[in-house]
Amino acid sequence: MAKKKENLDKNLGDSILELLRITSTVIPDDVQKVVLEALKREAKNTSAKYAMDIIQANIKLAKMKSQPLCQDTGTIIIKVYHPPGFMQQKFKKICEKAVVKATKLGYLRQNSVDSLTGKNDSMNIGPGHPQFHFIEHNKKSLELKCMLKGGGCENVGAQYAMPFVELDAGRDLAGVRKVILDAIQKAQGKGCGPGALGICIGGDRGSGQMHAKEQLLRKLDDTNPIPELAKLEKDIVKTANKLGIGPMGFGGKTTLLACKIGHLNRLPASYYVSISYMCWAFRRQGIKLDKNNKISKWLY
Ligand code: SF4
Repeated sequence: MAKKKENLDKNLGDSILELLRITSTVIPDDVQKVVLEALKREAKNTSAKYAMDIIQANIKLAKMKSQPLCQDTGTIIIKVYHPPGFMQQKFKKICEKAVVKATKLGYLRQNSVDSLTGKNDSMNIGPGHPQFHFIEHNKKSLELKCMLKGGGCENVGAQYAMPFVELDAGRDLAGVRKVILDAIQKAQGKGCGPGALGICIGGDRGSGQMHAKEQLLRKLDDTNPIPELAKLEKDIVKTANKLGIGPMGFGGKTTLLACKIGHLNRLPASYYVSISYMCWAFRRQGIKLDKNNKISKWLY
């Protein structure tokens, strides 16, 4: 019995390590597809084409050499979908060990620092890092999703309290559209564009930002089940790509790869639009585990 538990823990650690490796080094297929489409769109001998070529070369090299797509590991966000009665503390310990191992093996660069001292213990673990989110589900098996959320792109995230008078943006979808486009204009390609936007309409300041990030777990080619939001998502991408900001702000036709919009209930007193931006190094992956905690399916 003890041996069986030991094996399950070992398998879990190995599966998490592989999840971290693939998340850090391989762009998911849905993202690769839109990057290639963007590459085709840019005109020859332009800075935009040059920037997209470099991005595509980095993607290929990282996969081939199993090395991180970017020197910025980003915040390690782990979402755990688990059956009832799951031991969260034990999972956290196994996961932290896997993060340390992934860092030592070079799958993750060492860039989580103590916020007060600035000290980097070179292990990528500390208060609030990795970031865990536990969600109970009715299945017997475990599903894990991992996102590495870059710091540069996090810096150009935004949150608007509506109405936003400066832009004459009200508490409706037309107002939401105005502030999203404003955030794109303000970013001007900073945060390593082109990337994708995750948006949340509503919630409070905390839950709104969280839900905005969750939108980035959706596949880029999915369709929002709410027709008004599906229409707005398409409109934002189309409009953003006419702004001429382009990859890294070099000009061109690709400013945004995708836009995903969700919503949460809000209080009558407040109406937030929360915006999370994910750079071209769009690192997210997910796994389904079998009863032995081995990977049975990749989710992206
Ligand atoms: S924003 Fe993204 S591409 Fe830019 S340095 Fe950070 S992780 Fe890398």
